[in-house]
Amino acid sequence: MPADTVCKIIRQYNKVPLSPEEMQKLQEIARDYARVKNEIYQRYGGMKSLPKLYPGYTVQNEMTRSGLREQLGLPSVYFYLAIFDALKEIKIYWSGVRASVLKRVNAHEGLKEEEKHFLRYLLKVSNAFESALNGSVLDLPKELQNQYDALSAQVDIKKMENYLRRQVRKYSRQLHTVSSDGFTIAERAYRYKDRGIYISVKEKRKRIFVPLTDNNRYTRQLHIRLFPESGNLEIRVPVDITVREHEDYDGSVGLSMGMSVMLMTDTGHAYGEELGTYQTRLSDWLREQTSVYHRNKNENPGRKKYLAKKHRMEEQLHSYINQELNRFLRTERPKVVYLPKLPRPGTGGPLKRMNHLASSWQRGYIRKRLTLKCEEQAVKLVEVLGKDISRECSACGRTGEKKDGIFSCPYCGYRTDQKQNAARNAKKRGELSEDGSVWKEGS
Ligand SMILES: [Zn+2]
Repeated sequence: MPADTVCKIIRQYNKVPLSPEEMQKLQEIARDYARVKNEIYQRYGGMKSLPKLYPGYTVQNEMTRSGLREQLGLPSVYFYLAIFDALKEIKIYWSGVRASVLKRVNAHEGLKEEEKHFLRYLLKVSNAFESALNGSVLDLPKELQNQYDALSAQVDIKKMENYLRRQVRKYSRQLHTVSSDGFTIAERAYRYKDRGIYISVKEKRKRIFVPLTDNNRYTRQLHIRLFPESGNLEIRVPVDITVREHEDYDGSVGLSMGMSVMLMTDTGHAYGEELGTYQTRLSDWLREQTSVYHRNKNENPGRKKYLAKKHRMEEQLHSYINQELNRFLRTERPKVVYLPKLPRPGTGGPLKRMNHLASSWQRGYIRKRLTLKCEEQAVKLVEVLGKDISRECSACGRTGEKKDGIFSCPYCGYRTDQKQNAARNAKKRGELSEDGSVWKEGS
């Protein structure tokens, strides 16, 4: 079931570049912010600190007593946000570790069913998880305790706990942030006014005024990202969007994604046919700039202009992508969308990998936006296996040939646009794996 709301990031931009002094003041906050986060990762990122993560006052109190805030001279609003920010990431990190270990347990053929049951229990119940890792006291509500007793009676507890510890260690890593290019800001530290925003800095009662390109105002936590080189900043505003469910969205659509045509459906409808043009214009321009850049490397105004133009061109490309994704959903009205999985990066040798790197961010962006838009409209997005999807004949299933954008099958004589053929396979594979039985001929 789709959730009722999804979180969407809205962005705001400065109207004119910030002065170097203003930028420096904001960078000071960003640096301290990162410093506090690293402190939290170091102190509370390990196994032993698991019991302190929920609900988190312990950490807050200990950090208040640490004197770090006074030492940095950081306003408390930033200090505590950095703490919560880091704690949130530690929690996400731990749920990632638990998910990885769980996957491993499920796939492990050497474990007995009872052992798997017990391990799954430990991974699910946080107090039992902590106790298994640290040997801390097991303190469970009665019902969970009964479950624990029943499950643990069937297995060698010590052996299971050792196994769990080994696995957790394997998936653990040192948490650290090096990016000091931004910080989170709460309402107490900013004010929208005069078609801009006032942001508190380290100097007492001082605020920096940044004129914005729009007049929208928000009352929530914002994330400020800094681009010191160009004197710009970006404000990211998380907004909850209510999911709009459409009664009349009932089709299922297979897709293939490409760089010249962004999306092709199984019925041969194309969306984003101009993508290639936009993309080429951007990369041509970038190539041209490299030589100019080498000439003016040390000249700040030239660099600034370059970054501003690059930003603008990327914005244009992104807005085109979004517009075409909207048109796709509005026109096709799908209930389900089948999309081939991305191939694993790193296959196909170094040269191919370079090409992949060059285009991957755009592909990543399109996927991210498509995923988000599907969530917003309660459309189910299903990834299907991508292996050989463009070489397989979508009519008879045998291997065909691709030439000049056309797919043709030497066995059954089927001929079509090669992207459409791949999209038809995506739909087929999706429907097949969804209920395991239905194979709709020629749909
Ligand atoms: Zn065929």
